[in-house]
Amino acid sequence: MQPGWEAVIGLEVHVQLRTRTKLFCGCRNAYGAPPNSLTCPVCLGLPGALPALNGEAVRQALAFGLAVGADIRPVSTFYRKQYVYPDLPKGYQITQGPVAVVQGGALDLPGDAGVRGAPGVFRARLERAHLEEDAGKSLHGEGAAERWVDLNRAGVPLLEIVGAPDLRSPQEASDYLKVLHRLVVFLGICDGNLEEGSFRCDANVSVRPAGASGFGTRVEVKNLNSFRFVKQALAFEIKRQAALLDRGERVSQETRGWDAAAGETRSQRTKEAAMDYRFFPEPDLPPLRVDAVEVAAVRAGLPELPEARIRRFQEVHGLPEDEALTLMQTPGFAAFFEALAQASGQARAAANWMLGEVSRVLNERGVPIEQLGVAPGTLAGLIRLVDQGRLPLGAAREVVFPALLAGEGSAEAIVAQRGLEQISDAAAITPLVRQVLEAHPEVVAQIRGGRERLRGFLVGQVLKAGGGRLEPKGVNEALDRILPEFLAKS
Ligand code: ADP
Ligand code: MG
Ligand code: ZN
Repeated sequence: MQPGWEAVIGLEVHVQLRTRTKLFCGCRNAYGAPPNSLTCPVCLGLPGALPALNGEAVRQALAFGLAVGADIRPVSTFYRKQYVYPDLPKGYQITQGPVAVVQGGALDLPGDAGVRGAPGVFRARLERAHLEEDAGKSLHGEGAAERWVDLNRAGVPLLEIVGAPDLRSPQEASDYLKVLHRLVVFLGICDGNLEEGSFRCDANVSVRPAGASGFGTRVEVKNLNSFRFVKQALAFEIKRQAALLDRGERVSQETRGWDAAAGETRSQRTKEAAMDYRFFPEPDLPPLRVDAVEVAAVRAGLPELPEARIRRFQEVHGLPEDEALTLMQTPGFAAFFEALAQASGQARAAANWMLGEVSRVLNERGVPIEQLGVAPGTLAGLIRLVDQGRLPLGAAREVVFPALLAGEGSAEAIVAQRGLEQISDAAAITPLVRQVLEAHPEVVAQIRGGRERLRGFLVGQVLKAGGGRLEPKGVNEALDRILPEFLAKS
């Protein structure tokens, strides 16, 4: 960024809620069904059809509000936001009015030391989070004139989370999105699928002289469907605005779209062309009333929050931050890790297996942890065998783990069946050590003469004599015990 300027960023995120049905009708809330198969008179906007609010969507909004420490409003109202578009069958969107069910709240984020002067956590405040319905989807057919509309998405519940203009760099915006994404996914209120549009972001950005307290004119950037695009679009836009201001020109308030291929933002509509939505209260829905009993019930059902869980992984399990974050890639992955750590009693080894072999197999197969086909308790059996020195790690990885995946039974059974068990028992190792020492008097003589390094050769011979199943540590100990006897002989 050009010196002397400071960026101000506020993000608006649309989160598709994970309800069974749509916000105001009984149609299924699902992605990927045949076009227009999930519709009814309500979400098609047919005359006379009446909306009825989905209680599950309200409870999911409350869960979010409680998780971010927001104010839950006992009464909030729905409004009609009117505009004309092919994918909006009613000609208006039902959204919330001046008071949202969730007001305020905040996320704690790592500050960008580059713009804040010093590292440290800061609070990014939220303005509000309101319930609203999604629109349908316009699809372009062949040729410019052909346009199709799929209304399966019309009426799907959204929670629009409006962030305060508290972010100061593209990095902070990206961190905000990651923390928010993790939160809604771990609360179980959003599937978090960016490609399917379940978590969508519009970014508002302005530039002001460094140290100023007022705000500059903002631009809203749309079409940001990945965290990387948000960062790139904001970096581009901050530079563009600062360059305009450097030249003594003004930034015009407008909506711009991110063109990923060109790597730039393009003007879509200016403030003058901004729509008048003619907002008014929705006459077909009563005010949304939330009582203390319902709030308490939702609060009691909240899971451990993801940021607290990441800290716990670091503090209780002794994991570095990057590993803790990777273990939190999905709720299922984190839960599998915890079950594995618990069942094996070995958190570090459990993390290594999750981030190593397990991840490798999931990537190869392109499936989530739920489809691994091996239960945490079963994998824990393998970790214990390694920990007890009964199975070398290499054999655990290369032989027993694939056998577990192939459904060949427990780790114990596989090891027994294939005769893989490592021998650490001194009674079994001692005779082999004696045998090797007796077979190599010349080597013993050389060691006596000072060639200590040949001890390694003897260890190798003993391991070989044991068919690769002897525990190296046990062999070394036995050699320490018996070799002096042979050295003293001659
Ligand atoms: P609208 O309803 O037109 O989108 P809002 O006032 O609700 O406008 O603001 C929407 C978003 O814009 C919020 O996320 C807010 O943080 C952000 N925002 C507001 N003013 C600025 C500004 N000057 N610079 C950057 N972001 C801003
Ligand atoms: Mg907006
Ligand atoms: Zn419907």
